[in-house]
Amino acid sequence: NPDLRLNLRLIPYSDELWLLVARDVTRTMRLEHMRRDFVANVSHELRTPLTVVHGYLEMLDPADNPDWAPMLAEMQRQSQRMTQLVEDLLTLSRLEARETLPEEHVAMAPMLSTLRREAEALSQGKHRITVGDEAGVDLWGSNKELHSAFSNLVANAVRYTPAGGEIAVRFAVDAGGGATLSVRDSGYGIPAAHLPRITERFYRVSTSRSRESGGTGLGLAIVKHVLGLHGARLEIASEVGKGSTFACRFNPDRVHARESHPIAATS
Ligand code: ADP
Repeated sequence: NPDLRLNLRLIPYSDELWLLVARDVTRTMRLEHMRRDFVANVSHELRTPLTVVHGYLEMLDPADNPDWAPMLAEMQRQSQRMTQLVEDLLTLSRLEARETLPEEHVAMAPMLSTLRREAEALSQGKHRITVGDEAGVDLWGSNKELHSAFSNLVANAVRYTPAGGEIAVRFAVDAGGGATLSVRDSGYGIPAAHLPRITERFYRVSTSRSRESGGTGLGLAIVKHVLGLHGARLEIASEVGKGSTFACRFNPDRVHARESHPIAATS
């Protein structure tokens, strides 16, 4: 059977004997494929009608009929949310279907400048934002996907930190030669009980706060997938009422010397 998928495990049994345990996961994997294809197809089909609805809604001017203004604003907000949701679902399906990503030179100085601009635009002056580029190295990986992962972390830091709080993005070399991009905030924090499940699709700590924040519930699932495809891992440390740190840890084989000089660490 060419479709047969087995999960093999070798377990020590005695000094001389090993046990080979084979589990048939053909059906589980087939179902997983069907789920992934279904989500990708539905998201794709929803994209065109949503673009049309969203486009026409944007053209309506609340000044033409002030009575409709609040309804129009809400419709525009919700259609924006739906569009983002469909885009995130497509991103996640695309990532789930891949086993590897292109290996490009990822220049971290411009990446950090972009993250700073994005954080400032989202925060609108409500937070103190610092960006530290201490590594002086660059990465190998996919520019597009890494940017999407880092920007999701930055957007979350802004969303889940009340006005007046601090957000610090930092890129530094680890003792073992790897490198870490971390996003730290002084926001609401995440209760320890939620941490193990926080990167699952649509998993949210507080539904009302998360919904108000305009997120889709898919951000951290995307981050986890992107990092997984880079052989990197996501470490989360958080304390309720104090804030959270999301650290993306890259192995030494993903790190290489920077050709040009790093931008100065600024605050
Ligand atoms: P969302 O679109 O809801 O932000 P994510 O997958 O990005 O979805 O995050 C999942 C949940 O994790 C959020 O709904 C929120 O409850 C929690 N979360 C993520 N980032 C932070 C953060 N920096 N501080 C506090 N909570 C966070």
